[in-house]
Amino acid sequence: MYERIFQRVVFPVLDRLNQTEISKVLAYLGETESYSATDLRDLQDRKLRALLSWTQDHSDFYRDFWATAGKERRASSDYPELDGLPVVTKEDLREAADHFPLPAYKGKVLEIRTSGSTGTPTQFLRSHEQESWFWATRMRIWQWAGYELGEPYLALNLNKRKKLSKQLQDLLFRCTYLSYNAENLDSRGVMDALRRSRAIHINAFGSTLHLLARYMRDNDIENPGVRVLTTTGDNLSQEHREDIESAFGVPVVDYYGAGGEGTHLASQCTRADRYHLHVENSVVEILRDGRPAKPGEVGAVVFTQLDNRAMPLVRYDLGDLATMGDGEPCPCGRAHPTIRAINGRACDVILTPRGGALLPQFFFIGPFKMLDNLRGYQVVQEELDRLVVKLVADAGCDKEASEKAIREYISEAAEGSLKIGFEWVDEIPLAGLGKPRPVVSKISTSGQQESSEVGS
Ligand SMILES: [Zn+2]
Repeated sequence: MYERIFQRVVFPVLDRLNQTEISKVLAYLGETESYSATDLRDLQDRKLRALLSWTQDHSDFYRDFWATAGKERRASSDYPELDGLPVVTKEDLREAADHFPLPAYKGKVLEIRTSGSTGTPTQFLRSHEQESWFWATRMRIWQWAGYELGEPYLALNLNKRKKLSKQLQDLLFRCTYLSYNAENLDSRGVMDALRRSRAIHINAFGSTLHLLARYMRDNDIENPGVRVLTTTGDNLSQEHREDIESAFGVPVVDYYGAGGEGTHLASQCTRADRYHLHVENSVVEILRDGRPAKPGEVGAVVFTQLDNRAMPLVRYDLGDLATMGDGEPCPCGRAHPTIRAINGRACDVILTPRGGALLPQFFFIGPFKMLDNLRGYQVVQEELDRLVVKLVADAGCDKEASEKAIREYISEAAEGSLKIGFEWVDEIPLAGLGKPRPVVSKISTSGQQESSEVGS
């Protein structure tokens, strides 16, 4: 059996060559999987205390930031060690780039550059310990979804695989790696590759898998033998999920993390649609107005990375929103705490004063498309209770009727809690990557006060 040879021989050898300890961390995660809620919290608290004391001792940036940050940056916490510490942003870290990696950290450091939604690159430094946790956690997530290491799988991704070492790794991992560009997925080629490779698992963006599912449905193609579907990287709508599950007859397991920062934070299990937090490697907080969100409330995802001593991320605002869970135990029996939903990029989500959220990709696109003679739109949340809808009219547009329809649609969904203004403009400016941004939020969710600056 290749799976056994892979797990016992190939994988540990790869680890040694890459100077990682992925197989060791994965074995440890196998042990902690059955921990009780109390034991998991003890483990997390212990690692958190160690990380905070390392950071206090060795990072002049954090020492100074923790001592001087204003009240509006600070938030209370369910974790006593984090209570009152300020929330750090991507911009803070970009400005403090010279302070990392911490000189006291002597291990191997990986440099990861990310381009944010505005195109401004940020460099994250990842210790090799964190690198091991990153990959081990992804493997655990796949295992929870029903995949065993060494089984053949298919990865669909936008980036090309150029490096020979990666291609060799794919071969050993039995990964068929297909790249495509955003507008053009060769679904027939993907189906051929699935049959040829006998892949039992597909890993892709939800939107990509949905394109494939639609192709299967339209052409009456049956699932060639896929047992596991995992998605990550974009928000999976309920409608898309249902389409995918009905085309393949297999449940979709979605997971969530920060690729640039190097942490897999949460994943669904096959028994429920909530997301388990992988607490062994991070502390995730959902914050709203400077305090932990209540069950069912939407707030900012702020996390602390527990195994990166090269560039510690402590109460780091990831720029995403998520919905707080209710604390009910999951039917799968795992005690890892859960969050209810991932809601998307904070700068792309409209919050309602009652604690809810309107998501751009599900909420706005449909109705705006139905309106005649509108060439473009953008919904801007100026304040928690005030939106401005920018519209671009085409010839023959009935402006009054358009405004009325939009006002009614938003008011109904937000239960009248939002004031709505309109602005007719010639053009909607494009965001940093040259893409339109249908929704722009100017409010901050993690800190105590709302700021008027757009997080970019
Ligand atoms: Zn579960």
